[in-house]
Amino acid sequence: MKYPFGKPVIGVEERLAIEEVLQSGILVHGSKTTGFELAFASYTKAPYAVTVSSCTAGMHLIYFTLNIGEGDEVIVPAQTHVATAHAVEFTGAKPVFVDSERSTGNIDIDRLEAAITSATKAITVVHYLGVPVDMSRVLKIAKDHNLFVFEDCALSPGAKVDGTHTGLLGDAGIFSFYPVKHITSAEGGMIILKDEELCRKLQLKKAFGVDRTHGMRKDPGLYDVVDLGFNYRMSEIHAAIGVEQLKKLPFFLQKRAENKAALLKRLGTVSGIELMSSPPDRLKSSDYCVSILLDKDLAFKRQEIMRSLSARGIGCSIYYPQPVPRMSYYKRKYGYDPSAFVEATRYSDQSIALPIGPHLEVADMERIGDELKSIIEDLQ
Ligand SMILES: *Cc1c(COP(=O)(O)O)cnc(C)c1O
Repeated sequence: MKYPFGKPVIGVEERLAIEEVLQSGILVHGSKTTGFELAFASYTKAPYAVTVSSCTAGMHLIYFTLNIGEGDEVIVPAQTHVATAHAVEFTGAKPVFVDSERSTGNIDIDRLEAAITSATKAITVVHYLGVPVDMSRVLKIAKDHNLFVFEDCALSPGAKVDGTHTGLLGDAGIFSFYPVKHITSAEGGMIILKDEELCRKLQLKKAFGVDRTHGMRKDPGLYDVVDLGFNYRMSEIHAAIGVEQLKKLPFFLQKRAENKAALLKRLGTVSGIELMSSPPDRLKSSDYCVSILLDKDLAFKRQEIMRSLSARGIGCSIYYPQPVPRMSYYKRKYGYDPSAFVEATRYSDQSIALPIGPHLEVADMERIGDELKSIIEDLQ
């Protein structure tokens, strides 16, 4: 693939950092994880940051720590990565799905209040493809109903609402460092939050519920377990990669923005497709990809279009291939009413996501735009 959809940009800095960790012999509980937490907190202006082994683990950790479980409900968007819903399922609570807003793909805030019941404990939003949810209305609704607000920021590092970094608008936010996200630690995640007490509990419960870390133990081997907890820690090797990647994030974001502008310009003359409307300036996107929406007729030929793109060396993807409630596991468990998820379904069934990552150049965007145009024109 000449233009892969996603490709981690790893340099000599990451290699040296890994080597340094291996040489040190300290592979967990070290200065790389604490350093990554401090650097990420500083970048986002978060009071607290907690490394975890993945975004999914971190989401589970949050719900578990909030004592969300059987009999409880958490509102989640229908259009998201399955992890957003799975993390609720792990606890025994029920994810309650809400359809997308047509123009952005984000959770439809107009439908939020109707989904709240006496069992609702939290609202989880996802900043879909890096376009931030306009949080003020979500926060107002959450306040009226006394609900925790959780932000799935897996695709939104660098995205802001009125200058505030995503993840700090609600009660907690989580990022993913999976290889094709904005920055990677191979696997990993980071929770950011404002509440010191919740942060302390998360640190405890991500490491067995053990009351003191290695560094805090006066007598080697002696510790107590004060709570139930997982092993959801990030290793020093993963954190070392993350620290180096975070330094490059501003450059990566700049490149994504330039690529997006170039691709959108090129796609402006393609007929049969709709482009997602760009958000107002106060909602700063992290520009994960350019997702195009095919008109109904063209959507029947989506597989053909995607195969032609692949044949021309252009990687593409679908975000996300099904509304989560339509996935077999969820359909079987909760039933599925297609009429409740019309907009989320449109994104799943009619969209194609095109790459704009920092592994590509503006000239590549022009090529991708032209190829797509010719593929579509041949089909019309
Ligand atoms: C990738 C992704 C996740 C899962 O992240 P992991 O780090 O792989 O667990 C969760 N939510 C969204 C929106 C994602 O895009």
